[in-house]
Amino acid sequence: MSDENKSIHQFDFNLICEYYSNVERQGPGSTEVTIKALSFIENLSTASYIADIGCGTGSQTMVIAQHTPGKITGVDLFPDFINLFNSNADKLNLKERVKGIVGSMHNLPFQHEELDLIWSEGAIYNIGFERGLNEWRKFLKTGGYIAVSEVSWFTDERPNEIDEFWMDAYPEIDTIPNKVEQMQKAGYIPVATFILPENCWIEHFYAPQVPVQEAFLKKHVGNKVAEDFIANQQYEMQLYDQYKAFYGYVFYIGKKI
Ligand code: SAH
Repeated sequence: MSDENKSIHQFDFNLICEYYSNVERQGPGSTEVTIKALSFIENLSTASYIADIGCGTGSQTMVIAQHTPGKITGVDLFPDFINLFNSNADKLNLKERVKGIVGSMHNLPFQHEELDLIWSEGAIYNIGFERGLNEWRKFLKTGGYIAVSEVSWFTDERPNEIDEFWMDAYPEIDTIPNKVEQMQKAGYIPVATFILPENCWIEHFYAPQVPVQEAFLKKHVGNKVAEDFIANQQYEMQLYDQYKAFYGYVFYIGKKI
């Protein structure tokens, strides 16, 4: 395998963490998209309990908190992200309702049927879309919602280069109708799906990384792992630019039945 198409899990986690701690978002998305996804969710009140799984430093969590009542717990594997998450919540005066905790999406610290909403932007791929939908369902009340964003194919056929890249990085990537069917089979009514606009990748995810990459390479000069990681990031950006007609992120919103 060439260095360019190493998937992210093959790099040093501390380096990845350091890199992503310096950008506002750890995945494609935007305030507008979070608000749009929220618009499909009904019946949230001050008594609601929301979980944001794979919350990262929490940029989307803070948007949720500013647009809904209720309590939110963000869960992420990386303590550095959770520290930034909690200081963001503090700065925005949301500490009373919003709390970040270190934990794994494979072993979530929630009670059965305790949640009104499960949120997860750009993170469910870590457990796998189908497995996440199935395993997390028990934490939702009947009538509760799940809202996740997930990389998806837009077409049935696509060029080899991009097909091979994703088959290596995340073989569970699939078309939108297949993902919707998986959601239905996992016991949710598919409520809405929509494609994240390109600005979620270009403006909000990739552009802020460019200055961070320069600084990161300066700091880790001569470190082959760091250099490979940045080369991989740049390759991913170039692939997106070239093949964005064939794939992108999609929000899937479902209601537990
Ligand atoms: N939701 C954020 C972060 C997306 S990046 C955003 O949209 O900006 C994916 C996140 O999943 C990272 O923060 C990573 O630390 C987290 N993650 C990876 N594996 C995880 C696991 N097993 N349990 C919980 N979080 C995990």
